[in-house]
Amino acid sequence: MAAQGVQLIPSPEEIMQILKRTGAFREGHFVYPNGKHTAHYFQMPLAFRYYDTARVLAVALSRKFRVDRDIASQLPKVSIISPSSGGIPVAFGVRDALSAQQIYWAEQEGGKRMFRQYAIEETVELVRSLGAPIIGCGAIVRFTSAPDNIDGVSIKSLVEFDEKFYESAEACVECKADVPEEHVRF
Ligand SMILES: [Zn+2]
Repeated sequence: MAAQGVQLIPSPEEIMQILKRTGAFREGHFVYPNGKHTAHYFQMPLAFRYYDTARVLAVALSRKFRVDRDIASQLPKVSIISPSSGGIPVAFGVRDALSAQQIYWAEQEGGKRMFRQYAIEETVELVRSLGAPIIGCGAIVRFTSAPDNIDGVSIKSLVEFDEKFYESAEACVECKADVPEEHVRF
């Protein structure tokens, strides 16, 4: 079989290696805006500082969309929407790889506390309320505890990460071990 059309998507292990090498996958003690504690934090802009790794990640995610016939058939007449400013580098990279026509991002006002997947859900609602259909959702990393679809639109991801979230400081292993905590945002 000819190599035509065969495009490899790096394995989750290879993606994790990139995220570790660039410092985007951080280990320690993190407190999220919703009050939950974890031992890991994905600071994705750190991986997107480097053109080469940004390109590998964005192209890989774009391939997840391209192999979906329903999505591929709509290209390039689609818009890429980031649910937050932190996702803008990802959205730009994916837009470039898909030759998508437009790019948007949602801004958060009022400091509402929310989970990343809720930010995506809110963005989906916003876009639909404006009369546009959602044909795909994607993330570099999806927590396995997060939904794998939003209203029937599956979330494509390069890594499925089984993160342990502690509901409170009382339940947190890192708190008990006196590991200095860092407050982070989604
Ligand atoms: Zn803690």
